[in-house]
Amino acid sequence: MIEIITIGDELLCGRTQDTNAGMIARELHTAGFTVARITTTGDTRDAISAALLSCLRETRFVIVTGGLGPTEDDLTAEAAAAAFGDTLALHPEAFAMLQRWLKRRNRTINPSQQKQTILPSTCTPIANPVGTACGFIMRHHGRHYLFMPGVPAEARAITEQFVLAYINEHSGRKHIIRSKTLRVFGLWESVIQEKLTNALNPDADVSLGFYPHFPEVLLRLTAHGPAAAVLDERLERARNAIVERIGEHIYAEGDESLAACVGKLLADGGTSLAVAESCTGGLLSHLITSVPGSSAWFERGLVVYSNASKTQLAGVEETILARHGAVSAATAQALAQGVRSCAGSTIGVGITGIAGPGGGTQEKPVGTVFFAIAGPDGCSVHQRCFSGTRDQIKTLSAFTALDLLRRTLLGLNIDGQGNFL
Ligand code: ATP
Ligand code: MG
Repeated sequence: MIEIITIGDELLCGRTQDTNAGMIARELHTAGFTVARITTTGDTRDAISAALLSCLRETRFVIVTGGLGPTEDDLTAEAAAAAFGDTLALHPEAFAMLQRWLKRRNRTINPSQQKQTILPSTCTPIANPVGTACGFIMRHHGRHYLFMPGVPAEARAITEQFVLAYINEHSGRKHIIRSKTLRVFGLWESVIQEKLTNALNPDADVSLGFYPHFPEVLLRLTAHGPAAAVLDERLERARNAIVERIGEHIYAEGDESLAACVGKLLADGGTSLAVAESCTGGLLSHLITSVPGSSAWFERGLVVYSNASKTQLAGVEETILARHGAVSAATAQALAQGVRSCAGSTIGVGITGIAGPGGGTQEKPVGTVFFAIAGPDGCSVHQRCFSGTRDQIKTLSAFTALDLLRRTLLGLNIDGQGNFL
């Protein structure tokens, strides 16, 4: 049996939501393990020691997060040593690990980082791939205690890269865990769920996890069993079943971002891109240039916020602005064609819209955004009406522009693209 203990006063007073326990429980569940109990305790030494010693009788693995940092209220190592009759000492292996981690980043150890290597003397350190505070393992009364930092990204990395494999190995199950991630843009989680109802054969032993990551949703398929080839086959079948239902919304598998996917399509076709953005204020250019090597396909990005800049930099005629307004299909088209012609690129993209919270009208409410894609075969214009905060509308707009490009380059259907688009 497995238990989770999360540590932190901020969790008990409701200031911070305990996302670690849910994340760990979800990861374990998809890997085929059951969590018997989740306990949250405050930042005092006695409370932590008591929680460690009051596990259920059948519990063999205890996963603990929080209180491993260098500050005064980080008492987990001390509490663990006290609970298990150990003493604290500078741990040579943890120290060497920290030195290697910092050396790779051209940094040297400072005193507060050094404090993080003072651990119970009998523990085994666990490498932290994304931070300086290492985790550690202790054995007590036949149980395995796995301690991790509280920072959610660090707890997640250690869970994925170490904890699951450790429990798998030490539980004697000898299973292999295989997973596959499908990246979806254009459908909210609830709609995906609805579309995928009964898509997976319940006997196929593949679990499907939803990980919303605004404005995208990641779908993770996980299978476990003794033989890798069987698992890969099961995952492939489950993947195909999902692709059959929502294939056009899946832009990539694994870690590839939407901008990287579009970049690959542009590079493959020897196609270059220039964009003129108004309401996204450069966000689209930022996403495009976040991809290494984007200079091979990205020619330029203009932020044309005022009417004057639309005219001066992107060549939008004043009469278009006067007749149709800055937020209009005609202006989006003129932006796309204008930036394409001044950059000499194969494709030009124009975006103009109302990110809010003010500036909306009955005819063009907040969230109205026009997109245009101009290429050698002409120009297509698309209107969307998003809801959300200013930031959300900007993000949705930039991602939608990328998805429109992806669909255009792949020759996919654009209208009726997604439920929120
Ligand atoms: P640090 O080196 O940052 O001190 P730590 O291991 O000591 O790491 P904490 O001090 O407990 O961890 O928490 C670090 C940060 O992570 C805090 O912002 C805290 O609110 C957050 N955090 C801790 N535990 C959880 C949890 N269970 N769920 C979500 N967030 C958490
Ligand atoms: Mg701390």
